[in-house]
Amino acid sequence: MEVRNPATEQIIAVLVPDTKADVAAKWEALQTGQKKWAKRSINDRLACIQRFGELILENKRELAEILTSETGKPLQQSLNEIQGAQNRIDHLEQNAVRWLSDEVLVDSGGTHERIVYEPLGVIGNISAWNFPYNVGYNVFLYALVAGNAVMYKPSEYASLTGKEFEKYLHSAGVPEDVFQCVVGTGAVGQLLLETDLDGYFFTGSYGTGQHIAQTIAAKLKPLQLELGGKDPLYVMDDVANVQQAAINAAEGAFYNNGQSCCAVERIYISQAIYDSFVEAFVAEVRSYTMGDPMRLETFVGPLTRKQQTEVLDAQVADALDKGAILLAGGKAREGTGYFYEPTVLANCDHGMKVMQEESFGPIIGLQKVGSDMEAVELMQDTPYGLTAAVFSGDEVRAMAVLQEMNTGTVYWNCCDRVSPNVPWSGRKSSGLGSTLSSQGIRAFVQPKSYHLRP
Ligand code: NAD
Repeated sequence: MEVRNPATEQIIAVLVPDTKADVAAKWEALQTGQKKWAKRSINDRLACIQRFGELILENKRELAEILTSETGKPLQQSLNEIQGAQNRIDHLEQNAVRWLSDEVLVDSGGTHERIVYEPLGVIGNISAWNFPYNVGYNVFLYALVAGNAVMYKPSEYASLTGKEFEKYLHSAGVPEDVFQCVVGTGAVGQLLLETDLDGYFFTGSYGTGQHIAQTIAAKLKPLQLELGGKDPLYVMDDVANVQQAAINAAEGAFYNNGQSCCAVERIYISQAIYDSFVEAFVAEVRSYTMGDPMRLETFVGPLTRKQQTEVLDAQVADALDKGAILLAGGKAREGTGYFYEPTVLANCDHGMKVMQEESFGPIIGLQKVGSDMEAVELMQDTPYGLTAAVFSGDEVRAMAVLQEMNTGTVYWNCCDRVSPNVPWSGRKSSGLGSTLSSQGIRAFVQPKSYHLRP
């Protein structure tokens, strides 16, 4: 399996994908290892994860360069991701014991009732490439601390990073038969679905998520899906500073080249501020530095996957055909690398693909709205339900809109943000189940109820 640098188009590594026999052997080993791992104390398991976090931070620069070389993520953003993901470890350190310890509910009158949280067993984690530290940690670190063994299948676009996770987890004291990385394309992911794992935790596209849900349905095993989004932002006419709102909105749309599940994918703007917002927004986008992702000043690198260019081209052509106005970008950059110019389309409406289908790239549609009610209807007009944001100077007005959103997360005066303190969950086509928070800790255990008569 060739690993290609999306900025240079050079092959930077060749990996041997795991075979069916490899997956079977790793599963056998993990089953044995999990039983011993589960018997260790929570604090003992946590200590390994803390050590892993230290090793990752000690090697941050080298790891960031690996991530940038295989995904094209600008180096500063790779460094930010590695540093930022550390908050998952801090969260586990502060909360795992509380949420994984036995709970005694009754201990009187000759009756003792208790809940014991047992690990699921050997879980499969099939992951995405866009934020491999964040979305990987959300699953495999939480699973490990809860006493599970993990078969981790990184995306074929982030396999070098996945192999680094394995190396450092083992160096940090997680036994080899407790965490195993399996590399390959979707065909290797399919092998995990055919293995009798005790839980399936997937991050990726709606299409693959739906396929996984259908394939494993008969197994009746725990399943969590963290899928895509078409996340709306509504900028109200009472924002304190239109220019600042435009700068923040553009960052929400274009950070990591728009390749974020919770990237702002469509923006609705009150008509009173539409013109001034659009002007400031376009000025901000035009100021972005596009180029070599290994340079710290680069904000826009190449797309990770070459084929996404076609999706973006089709969205631009469709929007222009239906009356949108192109204010920036609109095409792939000529020359080496999968670069796509940051693209702004104004005068958009919901007849256009750019307002309906996940773009997952540096492109945004802007639409004028006449009222909060109209904005709510448009924001809700989507099969997805990951996040929704409102920028406004009026909390009551913003909350009235956010309460109407059928999404797992809502934001007031912020966007494109994840915190380990609160659940990360998608509704509708954006997913099933939650990671992070107390719920994301409990996602990796099953309760056993004890009724004891001492
Ligand atoms: P993808 O669905 O193409 O691939 C995800 C993983 O599934 C990869 O490891 C891939 O090899 C594997 N896979 C593919 N076919 C498979 C099969 N038949 N059986 C088993 N595994 C298979 O998604 P992607 O391109 O890696 O990620 C982008 C998508 O992920 C976007 O839609 C994005 O919004 C979403 N995402 C969601 C979140 C979230 O937290 N909600 C986070 C990051 C990314």
